[in-house]
Amino acid sequence: MTTASDYLAKQQKAYPPRYAYSHGLDRAQRLYQYLAPVLPPRILELFASGLLAVGEVGRNNPDVATSTQSDGSVVIQFNSGMIDFVEAVARGLAGLFVMQTASGNKNAPALTLQEAALKIAGFFREWKWPENWLWIFRPTRSPQFALTDHARKTAEADVTRAQLFMLAHELGHVVLEKKILPPFFANTETNADITALKFVTDFATRRGEDHTPIFAGAVLAIRIFAGLEKVGVCFTGEYPDQAERIANISAYMLSLCPSKQYFHEISRIAVAYQDMMDSVESIIVKRPCPVRPDAERIIPHLIAALLAAVQNQTTKERLIARILAIAEQTPADIKRQVADTLHQYYVAAPQDETLFDDVTKGKMGALIVEVLPELPEQVRVMFEK
Ligand SMILES: [Zn+2]
Repeated sequence: MTTASDYLAKQQKAYPPRYAYSHGLDRAQRLYQYLAPVLPPRILELFASGLLAVGEVGRNNPDVATSTQSDGSVVIQFNSGMIDFVEAVARGLAGLFVMQTASGNKNAPALTLQEAALKIAGFFREWKWPENWLWIFRPTRSPQFALTDHARKTAEADVTRAQLFMLAHELGHVVLEKKILPPFFANTETNADITALKFVTDFATRRGEDHTPIFAGAVLAIRIFAGLEKVGVCFTGEYPDQAERIANISAYMLSLCPSKQYFHEISRIAVAYQDMMDSVESIIVKRPCPVRPDAERIIPHLIAALLAAVQNQTTKERLIARILAIAEQTPADIKRQVADTLHQYYVAAPQDETLFDDVTKGKMGALIVEVLPELPEQVRVMFEK
């Protein structure tokens, strides 16, 4: 037995994992199994020989960390508290994205933005001193509200993707420490993030999925760490600022995309998480945290709104209301940039490789032209060429 497997076995004996699958794997090991097919062979060898041990430890404090033992073997310990916490947050977020609730109005989210933000901020606050000692004894509860099967499955998939990124980040540290892959950057944490994004995007590609949900999962994972830090949770690792982490993984994600338009199209769920987590953080710190209007966020946001409208998930009136709300908070130069970009992507429609097919893009372009007369003069002129 290596020191790593011995250490993990002792931890798990003292703090049994909160959830074990029928085939004897805990949740961290199950996440590892998902990633295994895209990991470098050297990592698989280390794992097979016990020089790398991965496991869930039934501790409540939300943490995941990698430690190197005296014999050079490595342990990745994923606490049940973190696994449960991601689950609670993602379920809260899913309440927002439900298009058809089991009860109540059709095409209405189960929660409004404010309600969802409050609920999620509540999970973060449970960690705030002096309440957090309570959580030594109590695991995080998942929110209780009606979710349809579809919404529940979406939430579960988002949970898994955020957790996968967290584990992939730790595996990124192992890869760098053991010099299995060359570093991309000088900063260790940035390297671990970029390596993690490489693993999870390879995982999605292998499953035949486009990168929209996996990128959203990575952004959500980083925002969860940042939110927990805001309420005073200390982690084993030290992370750079979330805005910097997200800017770094976004730059890498863009480099993997065949065009800027493709990148904007796959960013639409990630920016929805960003907006949501900004609201959550404002509630946590009890003051508004104004986010500077950013074309890189507004473009995917409006792409999502246009797509939802052409797929009949929302109405034209709601789309117009969305555009007006954004226009009101956005300075003219950014509005101009957003309008130019959307016009370029869907009305002028270049031949770049994009995520959506030509029919969908054609419908989105036609919709832009259709809603223009209903927009106020100063917004309309920006689209008119
Ligand atoms: Zn790290």
